[in-house]
Amino acid sequence: MNSLALPLPIVRTVSALRERMEPWRAAGERIGLVPTMGALHEGHLSLTRLLRARGCDRVVATIFVNPAQFAPHEDLARYPRDEAGDAALLTAAGVDLLFAPTTQEMYPPAFSTKVTIEGVSAPLEGEARPHFFGGVATVVAKLLIQAAPDEAAFGEKDYQQLQVIRRMAIDLDLPVIIVPAPTVREADGLAMSSRNKYLSPQARMQAAALPKVLEACVAAARGGADLADAAAAGQAELEAAGFAPVDYLTFRDADTLGPPQPGRPMRLFAAAWLGPVRLIDNFAV
Ligand code: AMP
Repeated sequence: MNSLALPLPIVRTVSALRERMEPWRAAGERIGLVPTMGALHEGHLSLTRLLRARGCDRVVATIFVNPAQFAPHEDLARYPRDEAGDAALLTAAGVDLLFAPTTQEMYPPAFSTKVTIEGVSAPLEGEARPHFFGGVATVVAKLLIQAAPDEAAFGEKDYQQLQVIRRMAIDLDLPVIIVPAPTVREADGLAMSSRNKYLSPQARMQAAALPKVLEACVAAARGGADLADAAAAGQAELEAAGFAPVDYLTFRDADTLGPPQPGRPMRLFAAAWLGPVRLIDNFAV
């Protein structure tokens, strides 16, 4: 473990990554991986700590703003980037290695492969952002094969993404434990997100309505309210709080993300816009 806060080693090629990790593997050390797009915050750092607490001897973080998961009209070019700041945070968190490849390294010119997960990636984010999960699954598959970790952590903040990656790891027999990490929130309840930086001061204040409304919907559902009525009331409250449009606010089966089934775990999911910023959140019921 990098406990003396030595400068964080950064590698940019798959061969350098494997070379660095080889002695750890030879020594039988347990290795954890935390894939990110950078602009790190406490949510990301909690994933590194979780893997350490689970007994990983080494924790590797990756930073790659993955073009394959952005549509042409989305925010790839202006996605926040601060590698020096991120490296300082990862050093303080005791991370052992940062893999920050170039786009060229991840997608050389003849690159032609796409990993597609059906079913769980179709609804919700899959409808709103049809290109998204194909890009995520392809890059996460590559990172898991490149680093070959024992465990990899993903946040429940992006719950559908977590389910897609779990499905992929099972379907492709990837020898990795996918570790879910609870959502880290700001003091007012807003889920931490790199994209929160885009919110104007006023929108930042309005944004706190999202988790509050979702928690009220969850409470209503637990109290026996009709799910469609509770969701419709929540959507109206978000609209009244300035969210426009609300892409979805819906109760779903927590595993398949299909319609809720009696006697099975359920979750509430929402995505909504505040001006130019799209926020997502979800809660267990
Ligand atoms: P990103 O950099 O947004 O791609 O996120 C990288 C990883 O951090 C993903 O597994 C996210 O789900 C996770 N993550 C992002 N925000 C949070 C948060 N507020 N709490 C927990 N995990 C998070």
